[in-house]
Amino acid sequence: MTALVIVGHGTRSAEGVAQFAALVERVRTRAGATVGDVEGGFIELSRPPLTDAVGALAGRGHRALVALPLVLTAAGHGKGDIPAALAREQQRHPGLRYAYGRPLGPHPLLHTALQERIDAALAGAERADTWVALIGRGSTDPDANAEVAKVARLLWEGRGYAGVEPGFISLAEPSVPAVLDRLRRLGARRIVVAPYFLFAGVLPDRIRAQSREYAAAHPGLDLRVADLIGDCDALAELVLERHAEAVRGDIRMNCDTCAYRVSMPGFVDKVGRPQTPHDHPDDPVGGQKHQHQHQHPEPVLRPGAVAIVGGGPGPADLITVRGRALLAAADVVVVDRLAPQDLLAGLRPGVQVVDAAKSPRGPSVGQDAINTTLVRHARAGRRVVRLKGGDPYVFGRGHEEVLACAAAGVPVTVVPGVTSAVAAAALAGVPVTHRGTAHEFTVVSGHLPPGHPDSLVDWAALGQARGTLVVLMGVETISAVAVALIAHGRAPDTPALVVQDAGHPGQRSLPARLDEIAVVAARAGVGPPAVFVVGPVAAFAAEPVLATSGQ
Ligand code: SAH
Repeated sequence: MTALVIVGHGTRSAEGVAQFAALVERVRTRAGATVGDVEGGFIELSRPPLTDAVGALAGRGHRALVALPLVLTAAGHGKGDIPAALAREQQRHPGLRYAYGRPLGPHPLLHTALQERIDAALAGAERADTWVALIGRGSTDPDANAEVAKVARLLWEGRGYAGVEPGFISLAEPSVPAVLDRLRRLGARRIVVAPYFLFAGVLPDRIRAQSREYAAAHPGLDLRVADLIGDCDALAELVLERHAEAVRGDIRMNCDTCAYRVSMPGFVDKVGRPQTPHDHPDDPVGGQKHQHQHQHPEPVLRPGAVAIVGGGPGPADLITVRGRALLAAADVVVVDRLAPQDLLAGLRPGVQVVDAAKSPRGPSVGQDAINTTLVRHARAGRRVVRLKGGDPYVFGRGHEEVLACAAAGVPVTVVPGVTSAVAAAALAGVPVTHRGTAHEFTVVSGHLPPGHPDSLVDWAALGQARGTLVVLMGVETISAVAVALIAHGRAPDTPALVVQDAGHPGQRSLPARLDEIAVVAARAGVGPPAVFVVGPVAAFAAEPVLATSGQ
């Protein structure tokens, strides 16, 4: 049993929305045990938005769906907009998988339905002297227009009409008046205009209006307009057939003449163009086109590319939106010990997680092994996310990995993260700067103690400074650091603070004077990861004011 989400593009017509809802209900009733759960939603204009439909199914525990675009032909909506909207839903519901159903037409059930609508309009008049103008939506995608022409031909075959000609209500030729002119020149005295449309909307209304206008201008002509396909059993049956096909993995799309895949005369600009989702006004990200245009395009992680992603200081929800999106797209995640481990639980099933902490130790051996791993997976065509703690460029060796990928010719991007250098203090209620208290903050690595020959830190200058000093990787060296700072001029009673496991359930923070912080930390058994904060701002820790600090 795989649930079904029926995806509409949306319409300004209330009648069209009602027909869509009625069809969803009809499918639900006919679905029985094989489908089980059915929802419908729109990518724009109408309610409910797709995100509600998918959210409802996900909320009922469905992780595998068939998403069926309710479109007659595959054009921009079916090929681009709806998949882009679904990609956004996948980011919202990590682990969600969907099989994408193919467009409804051409299909004998539709042709029979069209014939019934045409015959109803004929009301007993002879088919043999009736011409049909089959009017499609029209698209800038020639493949979609060709599909309408194919349906026109199939509708003609064997049904006894004098002839069937395709026309389009927008974006393609011949227009409604042009196809009617054409039929009249062929000798037509009776024409049925058959809209190749599922439901009511602005465009079917326009077909009707243009037909009436044409009829008024040609009094001798018997011109009738057939009903739309509408909500009916045949359509529900076809939807269920497309669902079954998608479950079987049997999606036969006509890709040979798809303008998004092959360059066609006049349409070269479409090839390979990425698609971005439409914004539904009721979707929290939607209805803000003016803002949206200024945002960065949706991040994409292509197969064979690497993203170096900062995961933030620990809690799963302190990663950036972009980082999270790329993580959801990853095939392989190479993860650090300090990276937020809870994020791994939300990965799609089947994603390979590589624990970088298990790489051979030693200062550069481990890094080389990680670099090689990134390059190897990318070259195998996988989407690789390198998930790091905090920000990748703050003592994270992120740039070494970027350079290694670049040297290997692997496309690589960086997603900044919330660094513990600022966030650890913040989560303990201490700002690294504060007006009138500290106008600078310096972040140093305590990995090498003062006086170490390889150290690049000017401890004397830091002893002279008055601002905030944040020491990372300093659990082992804090005693030597405090001594050096005091020796170079910092007051022994300078406020200091140590924050361990910031953002984690076991977070704790201990304030002390600079000359006592090493002893206080050691006595309390403080261990990595911990950040030391030295300077007047550390005094804020003595009077906690944050509702959520220290949790
Ligand atoms: N790139 C990381 C820092 C990596 S160096 C970042 O931007 O946060 C590792 C050091 O970061 C640790 O030794 C510790 O000093 C600090 N650190 C990382 N996560 C921490 C946390 N949750 N709480 C306290 N310190 C943390």
